[in-house]
Amino acid sequence: MLIDNAVTGFRQRNTRQDTEKGKTSDIIKPENKQKPSVINWASLRENKAKHDAMKWAGLPPIEKNFYRESSRTASMSQEEVELWRKENNNIMCDDLKEGEKRCIPNPVCRFEDVFDDYPDIMANIRKVGFQKPTPIQSQAWPIILQGMDLIGIAQTGTGKTLAYLMPGFIHLTSQPLSRDQREGPGMLVLAPTRELALQVEAECLKYTFEGIKSVCIYGGGNRRGQIDVITKGVDVVIATPGRLNDLQMNNFINLRSITYLVLDEADRMLDMGFEPQIMKILIDVRPDRQTVMTSATWPDGVRRLAKSYLKNPMIVYVGTLDLTAVNTVEQRVIVITEEEKKAFMQDFIGSLNPKDKVIVFVGKKMRADDLASDFGLQGIPVQSLHGDREQCDREQALDDFKTGKVRILVATDLASRGLDVHDITYVFNFDFPRNIEEYVHRVGRTGRAGRTGKAVTLVTKDDWRVASELIEILERANQVVPTELIAMAERYKQFQIRKEFAKDIRRPQRKPPK
Ligand code: AMP
Repeated sequence: MLIDNAVTGFRQRNTRQDTEKGKTSDIIKPENKQKPSVINWASLRENKAKHDAMKWAGLPPIEKNFYRESSRTASMSQEEVELWRKENNNIMCDDLKEGEKRCIPNPVCRFEDVFDDYPDIMANIRKVGFQKPTPIQSQAWPIILQGMDLIGIAQTGTGKTLAYLMPGFIHLTSQPLSRDQREGPGMLVLAPTRELALQVEAECLKYTFEGIKSVCIYGGGNRRGQIDVITKGVDVVIATPGRLNDLQMNNFINLRSITYLVLDEADRMLDMGFEPQIMKILIDVRPDRQTVMTSATWPDGVRRLAKSYLKNPMIVYVGTLDLTAVNTVEQRVIVITEEEKKAFMQDFIGSLNPKDKVIVFVGKKMRADDLASDFGLQGIPVQSLHGDREQCDREQALDDFKTGKVRILVATDLASRGLDVHDITYVFNFDFPRNIEEYVHRVGRTGRAGRTGKAVTLVTKDDWRVASELIEILERANQVVPTELIAMAERYKQFQIRKEFAKDIRRPQRKPPK
């Protein structure tokens, strides 16, 4: 498919360029149109189909549909369904199957509507005291439990992990082939960062039932220990793509037994350049599996991934598809000079209550170390999190912050997504992030699980490129937009106009047509 796309793209580009130049491309000249392709696609496809049939022969059947719609869910009127979706972060669903569309199931409004047959799951939910399914859960559960592939577009902190884990547990424990007869794990969750992978593992341990065993595999962790756990037999593997690919290539893990696959935070995995590893991993996962993919955004790369690895999926969006900063967060933006930043931060830290918990985001690892040592010198307990720290130090930093041993964490964007610490009261953006998407992710570290939070963001003249996008985000979330920020956006606009104008002047003047 990739080759097909590349060839089509090449043809289109050539045609466009040549048409622009006023000549006809060789490729579309009639005499060249009929030329037989150098590559015999038909035979290649036939061979691939034969190879696939051989490769996957003899696999046990998969059971996928475990959904029994409750009478309450079934009796919801169309108006009730629409109202529920509207009031729950404006849930939107679509069936991406080509041809005749399937019926989108009604959302489930209570846990009992979906897990009544699974008392252990219900007991776990009662134990933690959740009140009702989150929007993504209410719509994703009936879809996934019917065995369909699903794409969930939801911000982190919306309960997306349990949205795929709970049906995954049911899927795992209800297969025709029992767990001890299986020759490897049944569920695989691929996650972009070690931190997220560990967090998914923590959720998995908290809510697991029927003794499901899981392992978390990530680069930097103890490789030998991870191999030992796998070889003893596990049901769920939660992994970052790099380390899993390493273990797979060295035959420490058998992925043929996976029947339930999750690609968590797909957009982030693509941003981190994991696509080649994902491709290699998925070659060994049976194609008739069930696949769930989550992503905070829906850019072209993620759409392509979905097209390649999911079959006739349904898609559930929670919130709008464009960037909507979490509306439970009060966002303050301060336009400042680079030199004034440290003093401003000192004042801010000095004004905090003992109960506040702050994550300070910076742009560079060195800056994180620099600020952390400044705090250290003043006797303020602090931890730092960035990619140059040893894995055990990163875990310790996170743990200290979670447990409240330190109330300030200085971090790079490594922590901007996925990090789930409930009681962060402030996000302090010391440096503005690379792009506006990252801003939204950072802000989402506070105001989690129904709480409110605050974000303070320092913006300098060097950040003028993002000023107008930031204004849009602030306006959409009904936040105050500083006049300096508006002026900055205007200056950038003028600068762009001048640049275009200068380019036009430099461009050689075309000769007028004769
Ligand atoms: P996630 O989006 O998966 O990172 O989840 C964010 C947090 O929400 C996690 O700590 C979950 O334990 C919590 N959570 C998941 N489902 C619910 C629910 N139905 N009600 C309240 N909190 C939930």
